Amino acid sequence: MNETPSPCPKCSCEYTYEMNALVVCPECAHEWVPSEAATEGGGAPEERVVRDAVGNVLHDGDDVTVVRALKVKGSPSGIKAGTKVRGIRLVDGVDGHDIDCRIDGFGAMQLKSGVVKKA
Ligand SMILES: [Zn+2]
Repeated sequence: MNETPSPCPKCSCEYTYEMNALVVCPECAHEWVPSEAATEGGGAPEERVVRDAVGNVLHDGDDVTVVRALKVKGSPSGIKAGTKVRGIRLVDGVDGHDIDCRIDGFGAMQLKSGVVKKA
């Protein structure tokens, strides 16, 4: 009985620890109930599916369009709806930001898949 808590589902931090019935992440302070089904061997690793605002499955390298205006820290205008984003990369980001990308005029940033549509 020497179980290692599973990595944080929010930020993938591996230095999680158990506290009472919960697992706690020191990176993002996320707390969750460890799943009991995950430890038995034989199960195929779950493929994470990222979908855009209308339900299309997104893949690494896809081009997408931002479907609504987004505020950006330090930018007076933010990202406008309709902005094209090329070559996205799917990540397991903090706070549900599952797309890593580069936007002209803004640079590298992370977006939530729910604010884009496959181009
Ligand atoms: Zn975390």
